[in-house]
Amino acid sequence: MNKKIYQKEDAELDDIEGKIAVLGYGSQGHAHAQNLDNSGLDVVVGARKGGNSWQEAKKDGLEVKKIPKAVKESKHISILIPDEVQPEVYSEKIEPNIEENDTLIFAHGFNIHYNQIRPPENTDVVMVAPKGPGHLVRRTYEAGNGTPALFAIYQDFTNKAKQKALAYSKGIGCTRAGVLETTFKEETETDLFGEQVDLCGGVTELIKSTFETLVEEGYQPEVAYFESLHELKLIVDLIHESGLRGMWSSVSNTAEYGGLSRREKVIDENVKENMKEVLDEIQKGEFAREWILENQANLPSLEKLREKEKEHKIEEVGKELREIMPWLD
Ligand code: NAD
Ligand code: MG
Repeated sequence: MNKKIYQKEDAELDDIEGKIAVLGYGSQGHAHAQNLDNSGLDVVVGARKGGNSWQEAKKDGLEVKKIPKAVKESKHISILIPDEVQPEVYSEKIEPNIEENDTLIFAHGFNIHYNQIRPPENTDVVMVAPKGPGHLVRRTYEAGNGTPALFAIYQDFTNKAKQKALAYSKGIGCTRAGVLETTFKEETETDLFGEQVDLCGGVTELIKSTFETLVEEGYQPEVAYFESLHELKLIVDLIHESGLRGMWSSVSNTAEYGGLSRREKVIDENVKENMKEVLDEIQKGEFAREWILENQANLPSLEKLREKEKEHKIEEVGKELREIMPWLD
């Protein structure tokens, strides 16, 4: 491999000396805080007093303080509250309490890349973004393994931003897998693009179209459900474990021939043109502007889209079928 993949030996925990505030104790927050603590680093969780996160972090044996206080007494501030609320919490509780040479650590580039948060020039601003949900970041760490991650440097005031980002990655266990350098721009734009056209948006539309086509042609909805949704996991697991070739070699020759010879009828060249339009909206900041306004208006469009998705027939059929397969949870 010619890409530099940073691993254990490329990072020193000592490079992140001083206290680390982990703000938020949700999916990523609980995992980062516990992993850093288990790695022997000095961690304080920043949360709202009396809230669920406050209680949870205490129960897990961690030191917990209100956000302003946690920030004030720390040298490194890991911002793991939801992206939509970060700008407000940043200006009210974080910014007034940061000092020269502090490190701001993000797990996603949105607010920095789209200028929703503008940190002072005398701080380091980095990103460490694990490529997996928080419970996996915690579970793999406990098992002695790690989740891969991306890291990026936006601002390097101390000339040590890179070592700090790598030390943080090591503290949460990611260098046990491998850490790859990116930029805030690349991480933000590719993350949005992937979730829109493939991971969340693309795959759900593919499932629904397969289901609808079968049901409209008179096939049983239950059969259509198994075919369009249930079996997808088995295929994706194979691809995840052994690539496209691994999957093709595991399915029947009929599936392989049918899939390879027919797929471009469905996902034709128009699809890539459409994807480029979606990417263009991301690159120009049009999607970000729309999403920021949507949040300011309290999510009216998202609520409508959620309702429409809930009413789809596949959800009704799926609920019934999953009830007879309770082991799926
Ligand atoms: P989450 O929703 O799971 O947790 C958010 C935490 O912030 C909770 O503890 C919540 O109580 C707290 N919180 C919410 N509003 C708050 C407020 N107004 N003031 C103080 N605390 C508040 O969030 P998450 O999914 O862990 O995301 C955190 C960051 O990690 C985001 O930048 C996200 O993009 C990034 N990220 C998430 C994942 C993932 O799989 N979930 C993966 C990679 C990166
Ligand atoms: Mg401080």
